[in-house]
Order: sequence, then C-alpha cells, then structure tokens
Amino acid sequence: VGQRQLPQASVESVSAALASGVTGPRALPASGAPESAQAYAQLRRLLAGELTPDAVLAELKVSGLRGLGGAGFPAWRKWDTVRAQPGPRYLVVNIDEGEVGTFKDWQLLATQPRLALEGLLIAALVVGVEKAWIYLRDEYHDCRLLLQDELVALRQRIQGWQAEFPHAVFPAIELRRGAGAYVCGEESALIESLEGRRGLPRLKPPIVALQGLFGRPTLAHNVETLSWLPAILEQGGAWLAGQGRRGRSGLRRFSVSGRVRNPGCYLAPAGITLRELVDEFAGGMADGHELQAWLPGGASGGILPAALAELPLDFDTLAAQGAFVGSMAVVVLSQQDSVREVATELMRFFEHESCGQCTPCRAGTTQARALMQAPAWDAERLTELSHVMREASICGLGQAAPNPFDSVLRFFPREVQP
Ligand code: SF4
Repeated sequence: VGQRQLPQASVESVSAALASGVTGPRALPASGAPESAQAYAQLRRLLAGELTPDAVLAELKVSGLRGLGGAGFPAWRKWDTVRAQPGPRYLVVNIDEGEVGTFKDWQLLATQPRLALEGLLIAALVVGVEKAWIYLRDEYHDCRLLLQDELVALRQRIQGWQAEFPHAVFPAIELRRGAGAYVCGEESALIESLEGRRGLPRLKPPIVALQGLFGRPTLAHNVETLSWLPAILEQGGAWLAGQGRRGRSGLRRFSVSGRVRNPGCYLAPAGITLRELVDEFAGGMADGHELQAWLPGGASGGILPAALAELPLDFDTLAAQGAFVGSMAVVVLSQQDSVREVATELMRFFEHESCGQCTPCRAGTTQARALMQAPAWDAERLTELSHVMREASICGLGQAAPNPFDSVLRFFPREVQP
C-alpha cells in the first residue's frame, strides 16, 4: 500500500481534475501523526482498569476533539448521548471519504490502520456497544485488503484479551463496502445503506445518536476522529487541546492539492492560514503559479480569493465568508485556472451525486448547472435558487451545493459578467 501512487491534480487543468474527481497527492507523504508507542497500549490500560470509562470520557472532553468527517461536532457529546441510551447500542465507522480533494482518511488507513481500530475498540468499550460496522469506500480497494488482514489479526488479539480480561465485552466488527455514492458519507444515508436500502439521507430529528442503525442508538464517527483516541489517552487531552494557532484548538489533517509544489496530506495546527499551510507544509506555490483562489473544504466549502489567504482555517472560522473547511480538503487554484469553470464543474458533481430525494436539490443542481453554462450568469435567479436550496433541502449536499456559485458571485463577479 505504501508504494501505491495516487494521481496528482493536473497542473494543466485543476477544473478537469475536479471533474474527474482526481485531486490526490502524487505519493504517500510521511504522516507525522503521533502514534502510540505500542499498538493497542491504551486499550490494554482500559481493559486492565488503569483507565475507567469515565476517565476516558473526561479526557476526551478536555481534548476538545471534534468530528473530523466535516461536521466538527464535539466527540464527547456524541459519546455521552449514546452511552446514556438503553442498549443495544451500535457503532458506525465512516470511511466513505468522498469529498472532492479529500484523501486524509485513505492516507491514515494506509499508514496507521491500528490507530483507527484501537480507537474503535476504546469507543466501543466506553460507550458499551454491541456491534461495530466499518463502512469503507469501495474505491479504496487497497485499504480494504489491508483492513481485512488487520481485522483477522485483531480478532486473534481479542481472543487473548478475552482470556486475560474475562469481564470485558468486545463488539463484533463487520467490514462493509460502500458503492460509490458521495451522499453515503452523510451518516443517515450511510446507515440506510448499511441496512440494505438505497443511501437516502433521513429527515432529522431523530438524530442517529438516539435512533440510528436498525433504530438503535448509534455512535457514528469518521475514522480519523476515532484514530485520535490512543494519542489523547497516551499524551492527555490537554496536550491535544494545547495544539493550534490563533486561539484554535487541536491538530487537523489537511489534504492539500492543486497548484502547490508538494501536494499531500499534512497534519497542521488548527487555525493555520492558507498562506502558512501552502508555504510551511506544501512547499509553496508550484513554479509559474500565483495564488488566485482556493477551496477550503472540497466541493462543499465554497471558493475563496487570494485576499482571504490569511484567515485561520478551522470549523466556524469562515462562516462570515459563506465558506467552511469541512473535512479540510484544500484545493489551490492559480491565475492559470478559471474559477468560473471550477465552480461549474463542482455543480456538475453535485448534480450527479444528488440522490434525487428532494426537489430543491434534484432540480436545483440541474438548473444551477444550466445557468452557470450561460455566457453571463443570471445573478438574480442563481441567488433565488441558492436561497431555496439552502432552506428546503433535506441534507447537507443540497444545502451546500450553492456554495460554489455563491462564492463566484460574491468574490469573482467579473468572471461571470457579459
Ligand atoms: Fe438527496 Fe440532495 Fe435531498 Fe440530500 S439534499 S436528500 S442529496 S436530494
């Protein structure tokens, strides 16, 4: 797996790369993620009673760990909610990494799969879950083979732990393959898919923490979120909370692609700016390219101009610009790219990936794409469409789909005038 080469965003055309969904790094970079000195060492401390479930939860709260699949919801709150519900409770690990430009979960799994499995078991023991499902994007064929091997080895380890700690109740773990739908990264659509139906997002409430998989309380986490558990327990929650810049807390795994010298996955402090991320981690801009615009959070997070490259990157920090970081997929565009073309490709992507369940998203993405292909954009109609899609779509796909054209109208109006 370590030798596998991911395709790189084309230096000739970032919009073409976006259209094909190919924006990954050229090769696996060194992760730099803090790993436990010994695999499953923190899990053993929990099994041996050196750590109590309450102590783990308290440490998680101190760490400030947030959901790293894109939503940024405080992890401890989910644990607390699910744990308080009557059993059986379930755990779902989301590895349906489908956001445009995101490859951090693949990189994490390819290099440190045991971190995620140890985090899974720690969460399962603390929350008291009966069964865990790992939902893996089917395009990650290499990770599936690797995970299958790791799970075989883990089941053998569990037999040994069970003999050593007979009181411990380990969950059954099942590995499931997704079928390539972007929307199945949304937790309720993923759960529908796990239950054997089409991956259609559910109306909320109820939240999945109360009524999720098969109607049971479900702890649903992105794989990276769980992978932080061993480091938090080894180094303390305060250690993770103490990372970050400009008052932000924690470390973030950024997928950086586009017109930078070294595209790759980088572990960087929360609150870092785009300029710092590019210069300190990605080797600066690629030769002959100047920063024109950037996507802070893949297809969904909007498109920002170079003038905003000094904003701190983290959950909630870009809301005033109508943007968000989501799963931290940063795509860098230069003066050689057409922001308008990129936005149109992103709308094609949303149109293709809309599950079609609700009209504002199904019809709205098609109408928006058609309007964006006109020589001059009809700003009034697009703005009205944006309002309807945001207010009336069932899930985040339809609600975030207007972000690309809203960004262009706000920051790059000259690109779409006659
Ligand atoms: Fe499906 Fe789009 Fe509606 Fe979400 S917003 S439920 S993806 S049609």
